[in-house]
Amino acid sequence: MNQCWKIAVIGSGPAGFYAAGELFRQQSWEIKVDMFERLPTPFGLVRGGVAPDHQKIKSVQKIYSRIAENENFRFFGNVEFGRDIFQADLLEHYDAVIYSVGSPADRELGIPGEDLSGSHSATEFVAWYNGHPDFCDYKFDLSAKNAFVIGIGNVALDVARILAKTPEELAETDIADYALDALRASQLEDIWLVGRRGPVQAAFSPAELREFMELAEADVVVEQNVLELDAESQQILETDASNDTKKNIEILKQISARQISEKKRRVHFLFLSSPVEISGNDKVEKISLVRNQLLKREDGSLAAQPTEEINEAAAELVFRSIGYHGQPLPDLPFDQKSGTIPNECGQVKDPENGNKLRNREYVAGWIKRGPSGVIGTNKQDAVETVHRMLETFLNEKMKAGKNCANPDIVALLENRKVEYVSFADWKLIDVHETEAGQKQGRPRVKLTSIAEMLSVIRQKK
Ligand code: NAP
Repeated sequence: MNQCWKIAVIGSGPAGFYAAGELFRQQSWEIKVDMFERLPTPFGLVRGGVAPDHQKIKSVQKIYSRIAENENFRFFGNVEFGRDIFQADLLEHYDAVIYSVGSPADRELGIPGEDLSGSHSATEFVAWYNGHPDFCDYKFDLSAKNAFVIGIGNVALDVARILAKTPEELAETDIADYALDALRASQLEDIWLVGRRGPVQAAFSPAELREFMELAEADVVVEQNVLELDAESQQILETDASNDTKKNIEILKQISARQISEKKRRVHFLFLSSPVEISGNDKVEKISLVRNQLLKREDGSLAAQPTEEINEAAAELVFRSIGYHGQPLPDLPFDQKSGTIPNECGQVKDPENGNKLRNREYVAGWIKRGPSGVIGTNKQDAVETVHRMLETFLNEKMKAGKNCANPDIVALLENRKVEYVSFADWKLIDVHETEAGQKQGRPRVKLTSIAEMLSVIRQKK
């Protein structure tokens, strides 16, 4: 082993951990990885995005924890890029940087009334019920009777399902305690999932759709006529639809054939509808939806085309769930339209400098390709980035190892009085949360404020 590289990874979600794992798989290089994370807790959307009733999906944390056990890995939680450390610091201390910061913002609908009280992004609601420290003080008016969730991706289904579940169903999960209390008092009766296109174009997955058939106290409503498809959709379904789409249609048929049993709540699937206005005096009272038809694009896909038909409905809560969006990072290029950092196979490129490739800066995950795919999609994505990085090192004959001995970032963090959290510190939080959970028969009881997390570490150390 004659080469030694020191790599900084910014962000501790799936893409960051898969990148670290791939770096450690290299046999002919010794690679040291320092991972920086804004929160004291690792795992990004696995902790703060995956729904609390999807614990199986969260078990992927075990794989990431094994990667963290590598002797060449260090975790620096509670360290924010752009506040505590900057690009120049990283380029001084490391051979290369991989930014894997995800897409923390959300896309807007761009319709009147979107900013009224009672209209929220799904991103806020998801982060709130998952106990993300930045969102724990948010308030959602759950005295509402009607909630509309705009979009029919898996995030929209998560939001609708959490709204529809009973306190007993939620109490078995690691949902934040304050969210459980608020949802316990929920008066919601009707939850509407609004898709702008038809069921054949739905973005949700069959497993997530099927879960609605198992809700303890909520009926699912799919009107029969929804499944009378237009000719183009029918043809797609019969020819080149994915297996997931075919399964979705089968499940929707099963749902629509079921008797409504008059449970406390109803979840309605509404297709071919788009909101055009959210209105109310000082808070959301009404939503106006236009009926769409499908129009074939040049590439053969079907787009939503509004008709003249507009329907109004009482609504006191609206969640827009039409996709996440990346945010720019200081000193890095950014493509506002896609919400990504411009890159070639993960290597950052500068559009303002003739698309020149940066040899020491890379991206992985949603900030590289946009907010799509499941957790596992980030593995191949991160692998591509790591291989591109190592190839560049070789092609550019970059001088290896100059940063392996010194300077160490720890000195810089201590000089700046940053109270960083190591992986061993995180494990103290983990044990604290899981022990609290065991007493209540839950996977964990989450700490939801950074001050509380740091205080637990200080007490247990
Ligand atoms: P998504 O899958 O991209 O779905 C976005 C939804 O918003 C689509 O229904 C889309 O409709 C709709 N939409 C977009 N713009 C709209 C507009 N202007 N007006 C009305 N509707 C609009 O995004 P996501 O639900 O945020 O999920 C992000 C990624 O995370 C996805 O890959 C998802 O599968 C994944 N995820 C997976 C799980 C899981 O596996 N359990 C859970 C959560 C998230 P069109 O199709 O017409 O564009």
